[in-house]
Amino acid sequence: MCRHLAYLGPPVTLRSLLYDPPYGLLRQSWAPRDMRGGGTVNADGFGVGWYPAGGEPVRYRRAQPMWSDTTLPELAAVTTAGAVLAAVRSATVGMPLHETAAAPFAEGRWLFSHNGVVRGWPDALVPLAARLPVRDLITLDVPTDSAVLWALVRDRLRAGAEPADAVAGTVAEVLAAAPGSRLNLLLTDGATVVASVAGHALSVRRDRDSVLLASEPFDDDPGWQAVPDGQLVVATASGLRTRALAAA
Ligand code: GLN
Repeated sequence: MCRHLAYLGPPVTLRSLLYDPPYGLLRQSWAPRDMRGGGTVNADGFGVGWYPAGGEPVRYRRAQPMWSDTTLPELAAVTTAGAVLAAVRSATVGMPLHETAAAPFAEGRWLFSHNGVVRGWPDALVPLAARLPVRDLITLDVPTDSAVLWALVRDRLRAGAEPADAVAGTVAEVLAAAPGSRLNLLLTDGATVVASVAGHALSVRRDRDSVLLASEPFDDDPGWQAVPDGQLVVATASGLRTRALAAA
């Protein structure tokens, strides 16, 4: 069940987030520590998105296991960013294996990731997807539950919703339409990260001027704190607040 990570703070190398931590996304691609029964490895693709100074995010995604990519380690060593969203993918049975299915999904300044599964896919999502503009449906990134979730969140953002409300509102309507779904979402614009905790684990680590949110702690630092299920986290480099997801 995919593992994802977001960072906000002073610029750091992608390598320090992806490759150096002992239990980072590289290790989680073949030996995650907490999958909650949702698969065993995360070998169906990976992606990282980061914000160049003053610019819109850039992505590097592949449909192969992260450990088999020989290009990203060199890029990651020399690329620095103060906002990063990355993920390794364990494809849900029946869903396509393609680069476009690997998070982060993106539009404009937004990056998005989903860790989990929509129960009853695809039928359970039909009534919600039917409300999306036809253009969004025929240009969907890829036919997966995660891509439809992104289209639903994006639709709310385009309509002017606050990011926290776009995430919480989407989680609420999908849980109502597809009970039992696991909907850990990450959304960032490079300044704020919104994360839902709905069915999978999420830990946060706040340091003096940075914040990390990750499916599982990437090292043994005692600063990692598990966020309880049913919470929505809104984090910036300088602060973090949580509220009940259902309060949306
Ligand atoms: N269901 C999504 C996919 O197949 C996410 C999978 C996951 O979290 N493992 O891409």
